[in-house]
Amino acid sequence: MSQNKKSESAQASQKSRKGDSNRLKTSSNKKKVEKVSSSRQYTKFNSEIFNLHSHFLDFISKDAKDESRYICKACKAKKKNNFTGYYDYLLDHIKSDSHKDSIPLERLDELDNAIQLFSDFRKRKNKQKTAHKIEKKTLDQLRIEYTTFLLKHELPFSLASDIISFHRNMIDKYGVDAINQMKMSNSTASQIAKNCISKTLKDSIFEEISQVPFALSFDESSDLYGLAYLCCHVRYIKDDVIKDKLISIIEPKSYTGVEPGFKIYI
Ligand SMILES: [Zn+2]
Repeated sequence: MSQNKKSESAQASQKSRKGDSNRLKTSSNKKKVEKVSSSRQYTKFNSEIFNLHSHFLDFISKDAKDESRYICKACKAKKKNNFTGYYDYLLDHIKSDSHKDSIPLERLDELDNAIQLFSDFRKRKNKQKTAHKIEKKTLDQLRIEYTTFLLKHELPFSLASDIISFHRNMIDKYGVDAINQMKMSNSTASQIAKNCISKTLKDSIFEEISQVPFALSFDESSDLYGLAYLCCHVRYIKDDVIKDKLISIIEPKSYTGVEPGFKIYI
């Protein structure tokens, strides 16, 4: 055998050994996949969905024989083959044309809303599952970060839970990328407060006082430079609670304190 042929034969034998080893690997992977799929943990049916929307209460029930499965009463009544399945696939089921076809025509309008509510519910639950995996040490560090922020900005500790839920809502609504890309200066924040938010808040106060008796109170003050301000408060009772709200701070055109006959614009 020439040197070249020897080398080819050696390569072929090496390839064959590699092939065998790959086949072995594939077969072992297959076994692993089979093992994983056979030991797959399906999510247990969560009865909280009955509080989400009447669609679930009326058309879906838990399979009494298997805590991970649902029964679609609407599809069962229509003798559909897919009237039962794992809870993990319930969202796919209620989105399916087959399910849509099974529910009464007068209930079709509610379907999109039920799907949206269930989808949001599943997202929340998945997030909670992931949250369980976070180490206690990390959560403690996060608490220290929030407390440091409150101390640094002299904010009351009672704001902690509001700030955290605000952050959660913003991340849920806009995503982390949008928050990273957003920039805002003092003047932008001030403009938004003045032109958008304060108008909305004022509108809601005016809406409330249009339905109940109310009292206005005014208080004038001036700063070190002699610039006068007139504060306007409104006090009223709403749902047995006394509400006292600042509705406007008026700057007069004159810089020498409040003049008689001050014209008020609220
Ligand atoms: Zn169905």
